[in-house]
Amino acid sequence: MQYRTVTKTGEQVPVLGYGCMRFPEKNGKIDEEKSTFLLRYAIDNGVTYLDTAWVYHYGQSEPFLGRALSGGYREKVKLATKLPQWLVKTRKDMDTFLNAQLSRLNTNRIDYYLIHSVGRDSWEYLKEIGVLDFLEKAKLEGKIINAGFSFHEDTRSFCRIVDDYPWEFCLIQYNILDEYSQAGRTGLAYAAEKGLAVFVMEPLRGGKLARNPPVEIRGIWDGAPVQRSPAEWALRWLWDQPEVTMVLSGMNELAQISENIAVAEATLPGSLTETERNIISRVSKTYRTLMKVPCTGCQYCMPCPYGVNIPSCFEIYNEVMMFGDTLYARIYAKGRYAFRVGGLSGRLSAASVCRNCGTCLSSCPQHIVIPDRLREVSNHFEGLFYYLAIHGGKIGLLLHRYLQLLRNRLS
Ligand code: SF4
Ligand code: SF4
Repeated sequence: MQYRTVTKTGEQVPVLGYGCMRFPEKNGKIDEEKSTFLLRYAIDNGVTYLDTAWVYHYGQSEPFLGRALSGGYREKVKLATKLPQWLVKTRKDMDTFLNAQLSRLNTNRIDYYLIHSVGRDSWEYLKEIGVLDFLEKAKLEGKIINAGFSFHEDTRSFCRIVDDYPWEFCLIQYNILDEYSQAGRTGLAYAAEKGLAVFVMEPLRGGKLARNPPVEIRGIWDGAPVQRSPAEWALRWLWDQPEVTMVLSGMNELAQISENIAVAEATLPGSLTETERNIISRVSKTYRTLMKVPCTGCQYCMPCPYGVNIPSCFEIYNEVMMFGDTLYARIYAKGRYAFRVGGLSGRLSAASVCRNCGTCLSSCPQHIVIPDRLREVSNHFEGLFYYLAIHGGKIGLLLHRYLQLLRNRLS
């Protein structure tokens, strides 16, 4: 296994980490026997960083890891989990979640602790209610070792959060399709320059870049002088970049683990040739031409005075148009839309919030007629499912909060 260094601590971490949100399931639950086998196989072969979260597998991932890492495996790995910030209402909630996570994971420390999917507004709110104090205190008590955050909003907000706390690391969505969206290449370079280790999630966009690529993309891969799977091309593109410290992969098959380990062992920073980089660049450009709305995520249209998250609306819309070939993919995209812009994880910033004021029109270098295209996005996503997801999600959050209060009273 290749290792890269966490700049601020000098710690060596493997270039491939295990994303613990896609274990094999049986009857709606994690298939513990199969998943333990896969996990231990990966650890025994050098994948010694595990990334989970409170919500993964509907809350089953952390307790499963607590069991799967018994018998000496806990000591072999660096364990990462995340504070579900959208469920946090008070400073005390942060301690409550962290203590519950330590107990679920059956450990006395989290090696890498992240604020989960934080954004511009949620970060400001968390600061107001004492997140900086929480992180400092948890570090002093040895409950967390390294502090970081995961992120899905725009580059500008990302850089602001990077500057706001002496983080050891961050976790960004980055792949050949997201080079210029979310934190993007600019955010990656910025964080690395500031001394943060940058871990990457969704290297294959939830597997979409690996499975059944559109015919135009397949043509480019097939014409390359070296024959590699689309997954290998996408992973090599990441590890070629020295600013990428680690890539997380949500692996659920032995063949996938073996392929990823083999590529991780073979790819050094700067190892792609110019021809290979050009091929990948052609693939990225072709993917972008297949997009329904030619939005590059540049953010020039932001902020919208009414609060629409224009790039996120277009990003999710493009994704479902490119990859939404199954019912699951379409439902998943609708869920993502409700979560990201429907107000479930922060402020309501959905396409239907647009008031057609026209402020954004002159700023788009792609000359997108933004309000018209937002109407299209709204028509696509904001149907019955959306309202059920929003209201169901809110009721779920309230219920969760009520049960938490009840538990606190009883304990
Ligand atoms: S036209 Fe719509 S999206 Fe554009 S700035 Fe006005 S409200 Fe925001
Ligand atoms: S300015 Fe245009 S291309 Fe840039 S994020 Fe806004 S809509 Fe997308």
